[in-house]
Parts: sequence; structure tokens; C-alpha cells
Amino acid sequence: MKRIKDEPYFTHSVYSAFTTGIQVKCPKCHGMGIVTADEGSAYFKCTNCGYQAEKERTVYRYDVHNQCKNCGRYYRVDIEETAKQHFSALHVKCPYCGTMMSGEVHKTAEAFSYAAEINKGKEPWFGLELWFLTSFQGKPIWAINREHLTYLIDYLSADMREKPMGRGKKTQSDHLPTFMKTAKNRERIVKLLEKMQEE
Ligand SMILES: [Zn+2]
Ligand SMILES: [Zn+2]
Repeated sequence: MKRIKDEPYFTHSVYSAFTTGIQVKCPKCHGMGIVTADEGSAYFKCTNCGYQAEKERTVYRYDVHNQCKNCGRYYRVDIEETAKQHFSALHVKCPYCGTMMSGEVHKTAEAFSYAAEINKGKEPWFGLELWFLTSFQGKPIWAINREHLTYLIDYLSADMREKPMGRGKKTQSDHLPTFMKTAKNRERIVKLLEKMQEE
């Protein structure tokens, strides 16, 4: 009988970037790289070719806000196009009367991108593909890093699963989609995960 004690909800998640790191494919050499993060930035470092990158985690909002020279109303036009966000001034249209005029581009720090999630097997800051990524019946199966992969194998191959101690109601396994937990798929999914573990 194989038992496993489940882990707290955020043990293996995108937040692992702040502790153990997320294992990804290097965009230059396709070797294994690590994405880490701190308060201000996310970092990538390839363990194979040494390529490095850094990205600010703060999300900025760019807009032109001013009083319209024609209708006198105060307006704000958000600048969504990345290419335009680097200009110090832009011509924008007053949303009320349609008059074109030039205005200074303001940059405001909006928030840290806390809502970041793994999306389509990619980490949220650089969009790099996870190192441990495969698919089962067209659905992606992935692990954040080796620790997470080990957890998944242990969890899915256990006969008995216990909730961790503590008050938190949600546990790590609540992240798992139903198709992974379904009894009829479990064995085949564990095989796929074990194959990745050997790589
Ligand atoms: Zn590399
Ligand atoms: Zn106007």
C-alpha cells in the first residue's frame, strides 16, 4: 500500500519561481534553463549555454490624459500598442469630440503581475516552454520542476491520499485537472511522467 500526504496548495506552482525555480527550455540552445523571480523582476538562466534574460514584473499602464483643446473635457486615452508606448508624446483623438491633438505619454506602475499562471505549458514572464511538458489525449501535462514531477508521480501512483495538516482547505492536488485524477487514466499518465523523469 502506497500512501502519500498531499501538500499545501501553492507548494508547486508558478510561485516556485520565488523558491526552487521553474525549469524551462532555453530559447537559444533548447537546453534546460531556470526561471526565478523576486519582488521586482523575473530572471532566466540557461544551465547549458549560459544565456540570461531579465524582465520587470511590474505591469505599466501607458496613457495620454489631458484637457481637450476643443471641447474642454478631461480625457484619458490608453496606449495599448507596445511600439507606441516608447514615445514621450503622441497624437491622440479626444474620445468625446474626436479632435486630434498631441499629448505627453504617462507611464504608471499598475501592479505586480500576481495573477501569473502557467498557460499552455509556458511560464508567464518570458513565455518559455516548461522543461517537463508532454500531453495526454491532446491535453498538456506538465511539471514546474523536478520536485513537482516527483510529487505528481507519487500522488497519482499512491493508493491512499491524505490531506496535509493545517487549516488550509485547498491542497496541491486541487490544481490537477480531473482527467489526471481519473482512475482509468492515472496509470498511463504516471508512465508519461516517469518517462520525463528519466530525461
Ligand atoms: Zn541555452
Ligand atoms: Zn474634445
